[in-house]
Amino acid sequence: MTAHVSVKDEGFLLTGFLSKQRAAFLNDGPPSAAARRADLLKLKHALVKRRTAFEAAVSKDFGYRSAYETRIMEITPVIQMINYLRSNLTKWMRPERRRVALHFRPGRTRVIYQPLGVIGIISPWNYPISLALTPLATAIAAGNRAILKPSELTPATSELLRSVLREIFPEEQVAVVTGGPEIGAAFARLPFDHLVFTGSTSVGRSVMKEAADNLVPVTLELGGKSPVLIGPDADIEAAATSVAFGKLANSGQTCIAPDYVLVPEKDAAAFVASFDATARKFYPQGAADRNYSSIINAKHYNRVLKLIDDAKQKGAKVIEVADNGGAETRKLAPVIVLNVTDDMAIMQQEIFGPALPVMTYRTIDDAIGYINRKPRPLALYYFGQNGEDRQKVLTRTTSGNVTVNDTLMHYVQNDIPFGGIGMSGMGAYHGHEGFKSLSHAKGVFEQSRWNLGWLLHPPFSKTTDVVIRYFQR
Ligand code: NAD
Repeated sequence: MTAHVSVKDEGFLLTGFLSKQRAAFLNDGPPSAAARRADLLKLKHALVKRRTAFEAAVSKDFGYRSAYETRIMEITPVIQMINYLRSNLTKWMRPERRRVALHFRPGRTRVIYQPLGVIGIISPWNYPISLALTPLATAIAAGNRAILKPSELTPATSELLRSVLREIFPEEQVAVVTGGPEIGAAFARLPFDHLVFTGSTSVGRSVMKEAADNLVPVTLELGGKSPVLIGPDADIEAAATSVAFGKLANSGQTCIAPDYVLVPEKDAAAFVASFDATARKFYPQGAADRNYSSIINAKHYNRVLKLIDDAKQKGAKVIEVADNGGAETRKLAPVIVLNVTDDMAIMQQEIFGPALPVMTYRTIDDAIGYINRKPRPLALYYFGQNGEDRQKVLTRTTSGNVTVNDTLMHYVQNDIPFGGIGMSGMGAYHGHEGFKSLSHAKGVFEQSRWNLGWLLHPPFSKTTDVVIRYFQR
């Protein structure tokens, strides 16, 4: 197989893979815990062995991305997740005993966690290793087979994923198909047992429509505008450092990157100064810095520039932290955008780039109100020490996840669910929830030989009335 296969070839492969995997699944039955652990170990070893190749492939796809960024943001979290899945899956696989009402005893109930079968995985370009391999590892932990369709915008990484996965898994177990929207749409129309999609909200909407024809359940890991709310008593310097890290990693091309900041009026100047100073400290060479990533392609580079330009035209003040590297390297320097208003595109669309709108608020209720007038975000970041304010933010806003007093870090807490809500997604993975979302929780009731069922059997009589009255009391 070469990188230049046609849509028709890949579509053909796709249906072939699905039927092969389903047949193998039915034939072999669910894999044992030992087999799943061994498969996960194979995946981990393959990733470790090829990590420099992965770092190089991602950098090639982006134009430039530091190997450290790929190590910290992608490879290490996948390895940690694999370790976590391996340590927990035996426990999660155990059938769970449930309570039986007195009148059904001595019958017994339990829940069996069964693999669903074949999982379809569609992944995006921004973290092309981890957003392909984390769902895959979860699918394997839950005993499934999987077909992956990585992004067409990262061809080198997608090809590497294909060759590495092909080396370690037979295609009846794990397969990869490559291609763009057309293949993606064909993929989403297949009768998988579950589809995990990570990508934009707009494509997520079509994926759900495409999957609906076969009633394929979907997990949608989408994007949106994740706010940072800086409380009145926050340590401004510490908050600005965390926001700079979360916003500028991968040049802002992170689904859970802080999209915009809400800061008390009194702290705005200090926050802006601290963010600016931290950005310069993190990236002393500005956009040219060797630790600063390129924007994935010219379309996205121009899209972010346009968002900044539109804001400027409509009266925003733009503070440039450094000079841009230019269109050729697609290195877009961080900018802070002040005086933004809701009619600016930058406050309507997910930014997905290194531009940070900073807005001010008077009371914490005003800030919460602003967040709640927008679609529910994927992540929310709160900075502050006051327990009452923190509690209010946690209970009065609804977002996929929250990190308090830092950014991004909920993503690498393996034991909590990760996912969006509303426009930012549906369903979750990571944690026990990930295993459950790719398993079928089958409730089983086992009737005992001696039971009271006969009390409800026809022909009905006065005794039936007594029994019914008893249960309706
Ligand atoms: P995208 O939606 O453009 O593409 C994602 C994947 O879907 C790609 O593999 C693409 O080929 C495929 N695709 C395109 N059209 C399709 C169709 N009609 N049917 C089925 N598949 C189709 O997203 P992207 O630009 O690759 O990624 C950026 C977006 O993803 C951002 O919005 C970001 O917030 C979001 N994201 C979310 C998470 C998360 O975990 N929630 C993680 C990373 C990125």
